[in-house]
Amino acid sequence: MIYEVNVIRLLSYLVSKGVVTSSQLSPPLQEGVRGLPSLTNSDCIGIECAQCEQACPTSAIQIEQQAEHANVRIDLGNCIACGLCTSICPTATIVNNPSTRTAQSEREHLIIQTSLPPVNTGAVSGGGGIFRRSMAVRVVSTGCSACDLEIGASGNPIFDMERFGVSVVASPRFADALVVTGPVPKAMHEPLRTCYEAMADPRLVIALGTCAISGGVHKNGYTEANGANGIVPVDLYVPGCPPHPWSILFALQMAMQLKARRS
Ligand code: SF4
Ligand code: SF4
Repeated sequence: MIYEVNVIRLLSYLVSKGVVTSSQLSPPLQEGVRGLPSLTNSDCIGIECAQCEQACPTSAIQIEQQAEHANVRIDLGNCIACGLCTSICPTATIVNNPSTRTAQSEREHLIIQTSLPPVNTGAVSGGGGIFRRSMAVRVVSTGCSACDLEIGASGNPIFDMERFGVSVVASPRFADALVVTGPVPKAMHEPLRTCYEAMADPRLVIALGTCAISGGVHKNGYTEANGANGIVPVDLYVPGCPPHPWSILFALQMAMQLKARRS
């Protein structure tokens, strides 16, 4: 009886709530939600401070003292979004970045510096072809599965990746894109290559999450878990530990346009 009452309550809640799927694509994170770090124009104190460099657990930050000022360099492909640098910086040179449009098609574009303007992230323009609005992805998980949980969340009614034509498939034979999660330890090098070789051209590889980009906290360890690069050719990088579902959906839309260009 209690079960029936709860089901009726749940159904009336869902009916009263109406459509929950967000009409926005990759909006900024809500206030208070931690994203990746970004840099401002506020002057860094330099090596006399260097608190961020010392605090960073993945050595993603370098402070380079120059004649007039200091250059702050952050490799977002190494960043696990722990928030230590943004909370510690006394000059607000490093701040929280609420953007979920963080994917890049070039590895070096994940490196941000105070001395350089930020690289714009945006959907790849142009392209065409019959697959422009659909993509089948095969996920190969080699890590803690937090990224896989966020891929799962990308398919829930709020984010609903299938409305963009994205589906997760079981076989690499049917996949347009290979999504790699986790740091790819040595034991997974060969299985990952085998999966990639089973895919038909044109095929894309998406390194999803900081581990898949660089190894993250596992980098240069005994398991040789330094990410997907060098094992398979990566076309798109999605930083985060794990990336937000909006970041994942944004990257998948970029991937669709990259694929359309190659079709
Ligand atoms: S914590 Fe801030 S002020 Fe200190 S070195 Fe880092 S960026 Fe510069
Ligand atoms: S947020 Fe990223 S760059 Fe900053 S301390 Fe943590 S891992 Fe390092």
